[in-house]
Amino acid sequence: MAVIGGAGAIGGALVGSGIVVLANQWLQSNLPALLGMQGDFEIIIFGIAAMAMLQLLPRGIWPALVDLAGMRIPKSWHFAKDAAAPPVREKPQPGETILSVRSVSKKFGAIAANRDISLDAKAGEILALIGPNGAGKSTLFDLISGVQRPSSGTVHFRGQESSYFPRTLSQAGMGRTFQHVRIIPEMTVVENTAIGAHARAHTSFIAAALRLDRRNEAMLIGEALRQLDRVGLQALATQTAGSLALGQQRVLEIARALSSDPCLLLLDEPAAGLRHLEKQALSKLLKQLKAEGMAVVIVEHDMDFVMNLADRIVVMQFGEKLAEGTPCEIQRNPAVIEAYLGGAE
Ligand code: ADP
Ligand code: MG
Repeated sequence: MAVIGGAGAIGGALVGSGIVVLANQWLQSNLPALLGMQGDFEIIIFGIAAMAMLQLLPRGIWPALVDLAGMRIPKSWHFAKDAAAPPVREKPQPGETILSVRSVSKKFGAIAANRDISLDAKAGEILALIGPNGAGKSTLFDLISGVQRPSSGTVHFRGQESSYFPRTLSQAGMGRTFQHVRIIPEMTVVENTAIGAHARAHTSFIAAALRLDRRNEAMLIGEALRQLDRVGLQALATQTAGSLALGQQRVLEIARALSSDPCLLLLDEPAAGLRHLEKQALSKLLKQLKAEGMAVVIVEHDMDFVMNLADRIVVMQFGEKLAEGTPCEIQRNPAVIEAYLGGAE
């Protein structure tokens, strides 16, 4: 029933059980007559039907019907635009240090992915983290955002030592994207974006299960639409996220991070897979976020992009910090030229 109707929606359960019950009855009374012998032949038919469904419509009949009818839009969409905006957090002053990483190391068995890394990020500043593949940049992001715990050293966020719990850090104002995009492909772009905002509305599990939270849902969808507008994805809001190009999925992750109302944004290679004009749009967006007082830490390989965007750059190599400075200082730094810019770019 679940395979034929589609698991995960009430409509799927009704369609699936309806089809199976009715077909079962019809097949049981007609198949023996057609074939001229007794037996549970309907089981064979259902087996074939289930296999055909998994091949042709793996999500079941119901999701396909919903797509056909153009009803993929959440119900709360209709009043989302008029819904109140969710509460915003108190933001740090521009120039305030909101992230301090002190002597952080991370070992994976014998590999030292990060060794004695220290850096600060300030509100209203864009800090770029560059370095060859395997230098430990993504690992550092994981340590900062609580996806991994450092083997030694500390991370302070907004004056407090990190809990190293992603959810708590997100609620405190840290947003991030991933080098390997993490979205829910079968959900729409707007729903994926709204996930980022979910901690800003407080709905109990029971209220949500009974659908008593429509007002909150509308508020979150409204916020998601505003953030999609900001990053330029509003036209794709009702598409499934999995149908987007990789570059657009990266931008979707930024919109999702922005929906949590962050004051620190960690972006892991957001411009990878973007076309020239899309990169320009991203650069403009990041400069605007900076002007609004957000701290942005960005990992990026495109040197033109980084040099025109960042206020400060930290260079990593073999898990260690090789250099730190303004784009001009980094471009002139002999160790950096030797290790990275000269060879790779
Ligand atoms: P970058 O993002 O700079 O390319 P990473 O942080 O992804 O570098 O990786 C740094 C090093 O740590 C690499 O040698 C990588 O193989 C290793 N590494 C990263 N994550 C893990 C893990 N979960 N387990 C084992 N090794 C890891
Ligand atoms: Mg990486």
